Amino acid sequence: MMKKHYDMIAIGAGSGGLSAVERASEYGKKCLLIEAKIVGGACVNVGCVPKKIMWFAANAATTIKTAQGFGFDIEKKGFSWRRLKTARDNYIKGITNWYDGYLEKLGIDYIHGFGKLVDKNTVAVNGKIYKAEHIVLAPGGAPAIPNVQGTQHTTTSDGFFELEDLPKKVAVIGGGYISIELAGVLNALGGEVEIFARGNTLLKGFDSMIQKTLDKDYTAHGIRIHYNCQINEITKTKTLRTNQGEFSRFDEIIWAVGRNPMTQNLGLENANVRCDQHGFIPTDKFQTTNIENIFAVGDATGRAPLTPVAIAAGRRLADRLYNNMPNRHLDYNNIPTVIFSHPPIGTIGLSEAEARAKFNKIKIYQSEFTPMADALLAHKTTTALKLVCGGDDEKIIGCHIIGHGADEMLQGFAVAIKMGANKKQFDDTVAIHPTSAEEFVTLR
Ligand SMILES: Cc1cc2nc3c(=O)[nH]c(=O)nc-3n(C[C@H](O)[C@H](O)[C@H](O)COP(=O)(O)OP(=O)(O)OC[C@H]3O[C@@H](n4cnc5c(N)ncnc54)[C@H](O)[C@@H]3O)c2cc1C
Repeated sequence: MMKKHYDMIAIGAGSGGLSAVERASEYGKKCLLIEAKIVGGACVNVGCVPKKIMWFAANAATTIKTAQGFGFDIEKKGFSWRRLKTARDNYIKGITNWYDGYLEKLGIDYIHGFGKLVDKNTVAVNGKIYKAEHIVLAPGGAPAIPNVQGTQHTTTSDGFFELEDLPKKVAVIGGGYISIELAGVLNALGGEVEIFARGNTLLKGFDSMIQKTLDKDYTAHGIRIHYNCQINEITKTKTLRTNQGEFSRFDEIIWAVGRNPMTQNLGLENANVRCDQHGFIPTDKFQTTNIENIFAVGDATGRAPLTPVAIAAGRRLADRLYNNMPNRHLDYNNIPTVIFSHPPIGTIGLSEAEARAKFNKIKIYQSEFTPMADALLAHKTTTALKLVCGGDDEKIIGCHIIGHGADEMLQGFAVAIKMGANKKQFDDTVAIHPTSAEEFVTLR
């Protein structure tokens, strides 16, 4: 058996693993990156990137549909899902091909194969053994499929990206952000969509203003939402048997009920790395597992499963280990996030309910309106925004928006909120007019 010694080995070449070895190699460290599927991980291949392309396509469909309102006399002659998929796949291939040269340029060794811990300094892949001072576990997650009869007739978000044609009638199961995003895309591109949510709201944990507005907009745009719905069985005609009766003959049934960490066959037990009952690998604030030279980053740690979080954790880890920054770590508070629904949602900090439970003194500022973008259109959306302020100085502890432009709007506000901005500082900022964003600095 061949043995090779590295400074760092990362298992999983998604956002987290890639970022850790990338940064480590910039500090002159010798790194090995191991990937069982495709470099780029979920984000590039079956997540953020293809999803956002589909979101843009959905927006184009909506623009064509609503252009009449601005005096255009146009008609959609056709839409080729296949052409869109081919172009999207090629775009992603371009990104993953680019990684090959990039890794080589940085001097990072890359192995395609399934990595497994052998002991606390050793990883096995493709029958060979590799050793490292530091090991980073970044295996990410995979879509969860519950133990229900008939799941062979269903698919997941991974399968959504393989669809060759637009399914005419689709059931999306789940009330979380992936369900909301896929439902929005399919609806805008011409599918008949029903969402089956287990709870009594979409986007559990989000501010109630967001939940209510999303429900209103999706319903107005023809998406049927079933709440408190338990799926009992799926038949081979793709009929859902539920606690609320049968919903029949879908062309596709998509599970979007969460993601499980890919830690089952990672050999954690060989190195005595602890994981919790769901398979997530807990770490301290420095991304260190219970074993001092083994670290975990990204979705597999069970915290804020977002690409920039995995990237930031991976980079900070390498900064700390190899660039003499002993306290460098990621602060998991106030992480902004966007949901690419139609219209999109942006949120950071505490919801009103969370703030009320935590603080004695809070003040809420909010506004709801039809955005000017929709003023002339037959089908309008709602823009709703809210600032949650805490304490005497009305520090902004939550900022929530649903509406056109929310996706691009939030990043700048997130900087201010991360810096500890208060309401007065928002008020002291001159508005940009006419925009929806200006409401945030004029709320009374
Ligand atoms: C549909 C969808 C949409 C999303 N949209 C967004 C978005 O808009 N914005 C956002 O910030 N985040 C989004 N995410 C989440 C984002 O993709 C993840 O948070 C991010 O990819 C996590 O990075 P990671 O490195 O932890 O894991 P991953 O990117 O999942 O990478 C893990 C990699 O490890 C590999 N692997 C696993 N086990 C092994 C092993 N034993 N040996 C070798 N390789 C292994 C896997 O094949 C995978 O490639 C989305 C996710 C999905 C599914």
